[in-house]
Amino acid sequence: MPALADLLDVQELDLQLDRLRHERQSLPELDRYKKVANDLSKVEKRLEKEGAELRQLELDTDKADGELTIVESHLEETEKRLFSGGMSARETENMRAQVDQIRTQKGTAEELVLGLLEKLDTSRDIVKTTEGEQATLNQEKESLESQIKGIWKRIDAEMERKQQRRDEAVAPVPADLVELYDKLRQSKEGVGIAALANGVCGGCRLSLSALERSEVAEMDPPRCVHCRRLLVV
Ligand SMILES: [Zn+2]
Repeated sequence: MPALADLLDVQELDLQLDRLRHERQSLPELDRYKKVANDLSKVEKRLEKEGAELRQLELDTDKADGELTIVESHLEETEKRLFSGGMSARETENMRAQVDQIRTQKGTAEELVLGLLEKLDTSRDIVKTTEGEQATLNQEKESLESQIKGIWKRIDAEMERKQQRRDEAVAPVPADLVELYDKLRQSKEGVGIAALANGVCGGCRLSLSALERSEVAEMDPPRCVHCRRLLVV
């Protein structure tokens, strides 16, 4: 039956196409890409949080800095008044106490600013480190993308060639036989037709006795008595 022999060619091409399809979906680069994309999204979330913390610290520092400037000018004015004299001893005494109090305020404000500047430094370092991680992951992601695209391009071209050959090979096979073959392929691990070689079915690898072989030869179309696959005898 020449149609069955053609179908055997179709089968071989279908298996090759299955393998290529599988290869396309199970590239190690794809796994790596998924991991990198996942890491990147985690790093981006962290960066968002760290960035928000940094912005808050900048605001706090600006505010503390502004408050320090106010205290400094207040101190300057009060000292000027104190040094310009012309006050009673009691007024001078009060003014001196005020200056002392403002100096203490200034010390506290300076400490606050210094503390915030330190935190700001640390926070900037953290953001910078995370930005570095982000850049590295982005680079890796892009490189993997282009690797995957390259491999897929090669596989797709190969699949297109095989598909074309498959279309040619299947053309002369009667439609009902193709339908049966497709159905068998779905339920039998992609193998719908096999050749009988040395009395062994190429599909299920089981032997057929002489009697079974002659039974099979009588069938239209011939099918393995064990696995029911189409059989080229
Ligand atoms: Zn079989």
